[in-house]
Amino acid sequence: MQVMAQQQKTKNLVVVTLDGYRWKELFTGADEELINNKAFIKQKDVKDKYWRNTPEERRKVLMPFFWSTIAAKGQLYGNRTVGNNMNVKNPYWFSYPGYNEMFTGYPDTIVNSNDYPPNPNVNVFEFINKQPAYQGKVAVFAGWNAYYRILNEKRSGLPINAGWTEFKGPNITETQKFLNWQQQFVPQIYGPDERIDAVTYPMAKEYLKQNHPKVLYLAFIDTDAFGHQGKYDLYLDAAHRTDTFIGDLWNYLQSDPFYKDQTTLLVTTDHGRGDGASWKSHKRSIPHCDEVWLAAIGPDSKALGEVRQSGQLYQNQIAKTIGRLIGLDFTTKNPMGEPIESILKK
Ligand SMILES: [Zn+2]
Repeated sequence: MQVMAQQQKTKNLVVVTLDGYRWKELFTGADEELINNKAFIKQKDVKDKYWRNTPEERRKVLMPFFWSTIAAKGQLYGNRTVGNNMNVKNPYWFSYPGYNEMFTGYPDTIVNSNDYPPNPNVNVFEFINKQPAYQGKVAVFAGWNAYYRILNEKRSGLPINAGWTEFKGPNITETQKFLNWQQQFVPQIYGPDERIDAVTYPMAKEYLKQNHPKVLYLAFIDTDAFGHQGKYDLYLDAAHRTDTFIGDLWNYLQSDPFYKDQTTLLVTTDHGRGDGASWKSHKRSIPHCDEVWLAAIGPDSKALGEVRQSGQLYQNQIAKTIGRLIGLDFTTKNPMGEPIESILKK
């Protein structure tokens, strides 16, 4: 039996992840060492676009939606320069273990590879989709095709569109047909397993408009893909582009009466990356790859802006926070992180 937690104003929830995006760029903008390293930069105008003299100016020019709307009306956790920390608890510091921790609340050491088979742990979206009020009203759009395993599509029954996959549905619109047609001509610059965000985002947005899901998970991949390629200019462009997509998404939500003022948006990342020349990669042996961040905006979350007091959050707290935002107590047989109360109460 599900015990209802306290009443929340949140009726719908959108969760967005930026794969492998460092807190450093989110809170301090372009990195001085990396933007000046020719090994990682090809664009001649990258400094015109993203270099400014102070961290406050740099972060704002890189991610204007985060540092205008979310900073004014929402919450931003993870600026380690002021002692506000967020870390993963899993010992691996890469994607599948991170998303498992994020959505099951349990940093299971058995999930030790990005090739791990379908996840044995129940995730919060699966749990929500099984509640009568939310049945068939949860959807997932993702760049990386590993989400079929991470969220265990077969067991969970979640509708997932991930990787270079056509959108399928009973009432497919002309726009959805067009997006499917266009997708096949887009170069697979990260290979066959990872779809670029500029294809994933319009599909997700069109689904929101047509189907009005109560819970949507949107998983971006560009930041991590360009990080692994060692292209810091394109990594910055990816961050800027994703900020634009998230701004467009929030403006859409606030323009649609179904979502307006009763929808919470959470944005986070699965893992960090190294510093200096190690920024390209992330794993246990590289310091800082366990460092993550979290943003929230919605009717239940006080406008704290950038949280500048010392504190410590963990990735395993996100799953229960997602449940509680819509008044559900997500529990499993595993020990889980506690919900983040400051997101839940105005
Ligand atoms: Zn990666």
